[in-house]
Amino acid sequence: MTERSDEIASRLTDVRRRIASACADAGRDPDEVTLVAVTKFFPASDVRVLADLGVTHVGENRHQEAEAKAAECADLGLTWHFIGGLQSNKAAAVASYADVVESVDRAKLVTGLQRGAHDRSHAVDVLLQVSLDPPDSDGRSGADPAALDALAAAVDDAGMLRLRGLMAVAPLGEDPATAFARLADLRRDFVAGRPGATRLSAGMSGDLEQAIEVGATHVRVGSAVLGSRPQVK
Ligand SMILES: *Cc1c(COP(=O)(O)O)cnc(C)c1O
Repeated sequence: MTERSDEIASRLTDVRRRIASACADAGRDPDEVTLVAVTKFFPASDVRVLADLGVTHVGENRHQEAEAKAAECADLGLTWHFIGGLQSNKAAAVASYADVVESVDRAKLVTGLQRGAHDRSHAVDVLLQVSLDPPDSDGRSGADPAALDALAAAVDDAGMLRLRGLMAVAPLGEDPATAFARLADLRRDFVAGRPGATRLSAGMSGDLEQAIEVGATHVRVGSAVLGSRPQVK
């Protein structure tokens, strides 16, 4: 093992322990929680190390980087999650390699995603990203909770997209437990009558315990697994 793979192995063990212990505290089966290792800014060689260590789900947030890495790691059979802000003119391209698109926050993305999935002859799983920010706050990402039903209907109408659930990021400057409690309420309403949309992607390196507490089925963990990311230029 190289020094880098040792480091990743030890971080991963730690994150897996945190997930197991949060599940135990919440009285949940650890098999209900999937770790999505967020590999943005890190090289394909790290993705290979993760795959060797049994990671099967990886997340990326920038289209060009994600596309290149997914191609470079095509032999690994991983499930690729796109978790970043999505431009509508990139949606078709993202759906050509992503297995799950977690950041669908407006109906305008649906046409492109549908086209990409159709051209690839492969259904793409979709999560709707819901905003937990106060209404009117700057830099808000995610759909307004009131817009979820219409957005879900648009996804349902696209034959190659499968609506699987919700995704959210806890706002900066708020206790994640409070934000995730709102998310749990939103999700309860959302899944009523949508038995295929029970996934909940919430929780990152700093707040995965709080997310598991409220029922997250997917945690997106970057820095706790791979170390701190290089600064954005
Ligand atoms: C980068 C990123 C993560 C992972 O964040 P860490 O704090 O490094 O665990 C999770 N979700 C989204 C949407 C991200 O962009």
